Amino acid sequence: MTPAIFPIRLRISTAYVILGERAVLVDTGSEGEEERVLRGLRRYNVEPERVALLLHTHGHTDHAGSTRALRERLRVPAAVHAADAGKMRAGDSGPLVPLRFSSRVLAFFLNPRFPAVEPDLLIEEGYSLGEFGIPAVVVHTPGHTPGSISVLFDDGRAIAGDLMMGGSLGGAYHAAEPGYHYFAEDVTELRRSIRKLLDRGAKTIYLGHGGPLEAGRARERFAPDFAAA
Ligand SMILES: [Zn+2]
Ligand SMILES: [Zn+2]
Repeated sequence: MTPAIFPIRLRISTAYVILGERAVLVDTGSEGEEERVLRGLRRYNVEPERVALLLHTHGHTDHAGSTRALRERLRVPAAVHAADAGKMRAGDSGPLVPLRFSSRVLAFFLNPRFPAVEPDLLIEEGYSLGEFGIPAVVVHTPGHTPGSISVLFDDGRAIAGDLMMGGSLGGAYHAAEPGYHYFAEDVTELRRSIRKLLDRGAKTIYLGHGGPLEAGRARERFAPDFAAA
């Protein structure tokens, strides 16, 4: 059985529920969005009891903001890459380093703080979702943050968080148009990570903002920058 990937659209970001034998929730949105996430699960007929793990693409406020509330409600572990664990422990997104000028403006609108939560599980490259009946592994794709990860399925689908962005204004327009996210802590690493995910065979890329992207178009967009990586 091929597990479904259901998008749950939230105020700023999109969370995803992966439905295999068990369900894995990828990201939890911003603070105060737990009800919205739970409604999203119900809309896809995923009983909350089926959720086995809260997996984070990274520790930013719009992806881990409702983790503390959802962990209390669902009673399941929260997992994050070790390099972003500090952001979750502190409830602080850390430096929002703008990639281009307009991001400086946007940074004012994004509150970096969120309810702190001690991660239960620190994951790294190669962590498998096999135990949940989901043929997918974690690929470490740092750059946006040091602990950014992607979930790569055997069939080439990938959930990549903020590794890239689809379209403009957070994906509101031209969502299938590949582009850079507004923020990156290390842009050289970011480009390496985009290349890594594409080279590993990603075909359809689901994102925290906009998307999904088709890998061919993403390669066209980013390959000219790979030389600089
Ligand atoms: Zn982010
Ligand atoms: Zn985001």
